[in-house]
Amino acid sequence: MIQQGNFLLMERNEFREWLKEQVVTRPIQFLQVHHTASPNYSTRKMVNGIAQQDTFKCLEGMRNYHLSEGWAATGQNITTLENGQIAISLDRPLNKIPAGIRGFNNKCICIEHVGNFDSGGDKITDEQKKTIIHLYACLGERFNLPINTDHIVYHSWFTRTGIRLTDFTPGKSSKTCPGTNFWGDGNTVAAAKKNFLPQIQEELNRLKGQNKNISKGDQSMTIQEQADFQALQEQVKQLTGKLQMDSIPDWATEACVAAKNVGAVDTTSGGSYDFYRLITVLYRKGFFK
Ligand SMILES: [Zn+2]
Repeated sequence: MIQQGNFLLMERNEFREWLKEQVVTRPIQFLQVHHTASPNYSTRKMVNGIAQQDTFKCLEGMRNYHLSEGWAATGQNITTLENGQIAISLDRPLNKIPAGIRGFNNKCICIEHVGNFDSGGDKITDEQKKTIIHLYACLGERFNLPINTDHIVYHSWFTRTGIRLTDFTPGKSSKTCPGTNFWGDGNTVAAAKKNFLPQIQEELNRLKGQNKNISKGDQSMTIQEQADFQALQEQVKQLTGKLQMDSIPDWATEACVAAKNVGAVDTTSGGSYDFYRLITVLYRKGFFK
């Protein structure tokens, strides 16, 4: 994680933990989907899939443009990049309403995906795709949002004044954003439902499955791990058996009876030598009277 200027840049696998630590007091109901159009893969100067432009320069450039438009800060809360990294706008924290869809920003988190995903534009990288899917799944998990077109919304489904249309409607929609070729399927409601949302749902299920496995312990073990664990349990049982005494030693009988009578222990049989020794010491010190 690198903080520089007005942005915090992190790897995909750092986002979920970071998100868990954020305090967000405003209600969140919608996750916006945008492409930046510009900057894009050309302005990022991609050579063999690697951007030659400094990432912070790209981010600050966007911010400067937004400020020049008279906005108070970077428009979006979060930005994804072609290399799979995620940038958090420090001047537009999650708790601050974004400037993403004019007239429809309340209760929204605005996420901009760097690239031009209109037809004939950039072909999205696998790394950015993975990040985008993971990001929406994490946000859905954190804010308890169903993964559907009521909560994950394309900019193209809104008019210039922020009225929600039933679908991308050329002439009525304010923009083509996140691109007429977004996710290879386009910017319509049907396109979102085809591959984009199911992939987010699948990722969310995977994340929830991880939680389950952590809480249920051995269910997440592989067959080999289960076998190892059983062998270990058997060894512990044998060792415990070796330590157990066949009967209560004579010198400990009185102490054991006293300890049981006052309810200090439920049972005094099958203990180890150390157990009987401790009970006897405690008894002699007057603990079980
Ligand atoms: Zn947009």
